[in-house]
Amino acid sequence: MRLLLVEDEIGLAEAIGAILRKEHYEVDISNDGQSGLENALTDVYDCIILDVMLPKINGLDVLTYLRVKNIETPVLLLTAKSEIDDKIKGLDCGADDYLTKPFSTGELLARIRALTRRKGVPVDINPKYGDITLDLKKGELICANNSVVLGRKEFQMMELLMSNAGQVITKEQFVKKIWGYDDDSEYNNVEVYISFLRKKLTMLHSNVKIKTRRGIGYCLSGAL
Ligand code: CA
Repeated sequence: MRLLLVEDEIGLAEAIGAILRKEHYEVDISNDGQSGLENALTDVYDCIILDVMLPKINGLDVLTYLRVKNIETPVLLLTAKSEIDDKIKGLDCGADDYLTKPFSTGELLARIRALTRRKGVPVDINPKYGDITLDLKKGELICANNSVVLGRKEFQMMELLMSNAGQVITKEQFVKKIWGYDDDSEYNNVEVYISFLRKKLTMLHSNVKIKTRRGIGYCLSGAL
């Protein structure tokens, strides 16, 4: 799951980023409205956390422009206590929810879970496929009594495969979703991580296999 955080207070942005990464989200950070808008327009994000008071372009203008451009990514607005009007304006501009600063980590995570769930991706239910389960909280792949910790990229790739069980995921989809941009040099990485995941499935004695669909991508097999 890929998040965009647009926040100009660099210390706060880094702190939120660290919390979210610990929860296995992939996080991109923009420190002004313009770069935030440019990132958001790529439409690769599952949720955008958008501060209202931003240099260059303010958060509400970023949001308005995104909705005009039909970018329907859920947006969580961050507002300061004094900006009560901004909450109303924000919701009018197409924000899905808002959070008043200062907020607790738990509150932030709960809002993000709710917003990403609305998009049809339940993050608090551990995906299962065949004899394996992906523990979202611990970042572990489980088969019967065995478990193995996945690296961050491995985890994201496995999550993508398991939440689209039986469907082929192309290399381009992996790169776009996990690395966030198209770059030929990244395609080899997909193969490397797939080979790591295959080794871990073997270690777990799972019946699940990652099949290669030549020239197309990868999919899981072994559900029954
Ligand atoms: Ca700000």
